[in-house]
Amino acid sequence: MSTDGLLAQRMARLKSSAIRELLKHSKMDGVISLAGGIPSEALFDFQGLNEATQRAITEQPSSAFQYGLTEGSPVLRERIVELCALRGIKTHAEDIVVTAGSQQALDLVMRATANPQDIFVVERPTYLAALQTLELAEAQVMSVGSDEYGMVVDELAALLETTRIKGVYLVPNFGNPSGVTLSEARRRQLLELAVRHGFLIIEDDPYGELRFTETRQTTIYQLAQEAGHADRVVYTSSFSKILAPGLRLGWAILPDWLLHKVAIIKQAADLHASSLSQAIVESYLGLGRLSAQIETIRHAYRQKAELLSSLMAQELGDVIEFNQPEGGMFLWARFRQPFDTTAWLQKTLEQGVVFVPGEFFFADHPDRSTLRLSFATATQEQMHEAVARLRRAL
Ligand code: PMP
Repeated sequence: MSTDGLLAQRMARLKSSAIRELLKHSKMDGVISLAGGIPSEALFDFQGLNEATQRAITEQPSSAFQYGLTEGSPVLRERIVELCALRGIKTHAEDIVVTAGSQQALDLVMRATANPQDIFVVERPTYLAALQTLELAEAQVMSVGSDEYGMVVDELAALLETTRIKGVYLVPNFGNPSGVTLSEARRRQLLELAVRHGFLIIEDDPYGELRFTETRQTTIYQLAQEAGHADRVVYTSSFSKILAPGLRLGWAILPDWLLHKVAIIKQAADLHASSLSQAIVESYLGLGRLSAQIETIRHAYRQKAELLSSLMAQELGDVIEFNQPEGGMFLWARFRQPFDTTAWLQKTLEQGVVFVPGEFFFADHPDRSTLRLSFATATQEQMHEAVARLRRAL
């Protein structure tokens, strides 16, 4: 019997991750990867995680191993309120849903808000897996450009003159893949547009804490709160980049009209985030080690970013341009002349180094001359060698 027609039609629109295909070989012996968007495990606070895990399973075994509330553990949500306060966001435990990574928060929010064909606007380039959540929710995706100050909000304003949009998804701090941060003026302008045109802003902020300077941008959520428009913004963040991604814990701050609906979808998806992970993070935060851990990561990533930037400028500055990263995990670069970085990947692989070709981060109008390099995991020695290999591959 044929199995034709058994798959839902929307599956036809879903692209398999071309990146995964391309990078299958990146785990081969001797290949240095600047591709993965993963944190450095050399920086994980294993001692603290170990202690937190021991405490979680000895001091609160029944909650660690029992079903919990869909919205997440009340204690953890209180702790998240405190974390958000450090970011300038005043919130309450009842406004928060704890999710399986911020990835799930994005998926739930897109599903709760997108009707088929509703238009969501993203940055060009944008985070690939957010595009997948939009595709699964059957939304229509449009993009606006981004420069060194982040999303070009004027372009969005021009689009809004002719087009009704449902939402804007963006990574305003040290974006993946662009590394750029949205300026305060543009944050305000975006919020004004959201209020005037009645769309939702999805502010995805997994990297905001990984800043290399002391300057902290005000979150769009905070600006919205101050202007009395917090009902227009969803704020998502995560423990993945500041603690450990394998815990799979993130959160969303949601307006009243949306929170209960998101909770219902979450119930259908997985009932609630892992009780054990939540208990571990609760204990970890109780140990008071997080701020020192964030400092360790910031310091280490800043050094790595500086090294990669200087090597790139030295070895490849004649052909490639980029902005020096000011936070996060990525250096986003562009060949000065038109160049196909996807085709080049084959050559760099032969030399034993991989990156992610930029074209995959575009919802439309891909710029094939771009590439994303991650500085999070490679050691100093590997970085020297990786950049030398990139040069040889030219
Ligand atoms: N948003 C962005 C911009 C990301 O880069 C990532 C992870 N790479 C996520 C969300 C999801 O991360 P997690 O589910 O681990 O919180």
